[in-house]
Amino acid sequence: MSKDPTFRVLGQAPTRSERYQAYRREWERREADMDASDHPVHVDIETVAVCDLRCGSSEEDPQGFCQIWTHEHIRTQGFDEHTYQRGYMDPVLYGRLLQQCADMGVSSIKLNYRGEPSLHPRIVSFVREAADLGFPDIMMNTNGNGGARKNPELFAQLVEAGITDLMFSVDGCDPEMYLKQRVGGSWEILLNSVRTAVQARAEGKGAPDCRIRASVVRTHINAEAVDSGRMEEFWRGKMGVDWMSISECYFPAGTQHHWKAAHWRQMAADEFQCSDPFRRMVVTWDGRHTMPCCQGFTLEIDGGPVVRVPNYPLMKSLKETWASANFDRLRRAHRDRTWSDPFAGEAICRSCAVTKVPTRLATPQRVSLRAK
Ligand code: SF4
Ligand code: SF4
Repeated sequence: MSKDPTFRVLGQAPTRSERYQAYRREWERREADMDASDHPVHVDIETVAVCDLRCGSSEEDPQGFCQIWTHEHIRTQGFDEHTYQRGYMDPVLYGRLLQQCADMGVSSIKLNYRGEPSLHPRIVSFVREAADLGFPDIMMNTNGNGGARKNPELFAQLVEAGITDLMFSVDGCDPEMYLKQRVGGSWEILLNSVRTAVQARAEGKGAPDCRIRASVVRTHINAEAVDSGRMEEFWRGKMGVDWMSISECYFPAGTQHHWKAAHWRQMAADEFQCSDPFRRMVVTWDGRHTMPCCQGFTLEIDGGPVVRVPNYPLMKSLKETWASANFDRLRRAHRDRTWSDPFAGEAICRSCAVTKVPTRLATPQRVSLRAK
């Protein structure tokens, strides 16, 4: 599992096939040896950068904690050049990237970065294409709404297409708690999506390694339900998901908000080395940007475009971006423990959530007002 201090698994992670475990061993080895080899173990392919929800947003804090809306907020301030644009990945680009991943020995792909991947009209065939190429792990984070608003069978179809890690971002275990955090979502659609996916898997229609997870961002709104076990009881006990993970609420680099339910302490390089740049990378939906980790967008760590763009001489392959000077510089900063140096270090790492240790704030337990 990740040594990212903001992430934890509730209970046991599920068991998997030997083929799956072999790829996870390589994932761990990259961290232990700080060795990037000549290709990533995992690639996040951002199939869409649009979303039907506005999680963690409120009138006082309109950009919330979600990266897609933080980027949108930055864009509306007139900083178009400094943030991502929004859109859907061209299926031809997707096919080309997927084939490159297969050819260079990538084991795991995820069909999202920011945004809601089930909104892509080709998402089921995208998963099928990946399954046909034989990746041991095909992952997706979803809000369980998105395309299921129109197609209630969508998540059963994704299971049948061969997804192996389907992760529903739930954040609540009753409609009121859910709606406060997953702004704009439908609790009923989410429940139907989880139920139909769990059922398709139980009927043996999924891949042998298919596992379904409920993920929770722990905030001041749901901390009591997480800490008391109510969240797990609902999703594992009642809805039948295989496992659960909790991430402490953090904020995209440089922003502040009031959703967090933890104190954060900044680490320095003598305490922490990040393994992401040695094993994973991200490609944006338009192919214009590549990144050696999934925590922050900045041109300083951009590996370059994998499509033709005006005024840029090179269209790189994924393998070439993996070997780019920016990716290598970031790896060196972690291998040599210089990332936290205020002058020679990496600003993006200093402002990143994974270089901070959360201490969970105690939450008040619910008291029943009913007389016994
Ligand atoms: S579902 Fe995901 S991408 Fe959409 S607003 Fe929520 S956190 Fe952001
Ligand atoms: S920004 Fe730095 S510390 Fe954060 S995930 Fe990326 S490489 Fe790791």
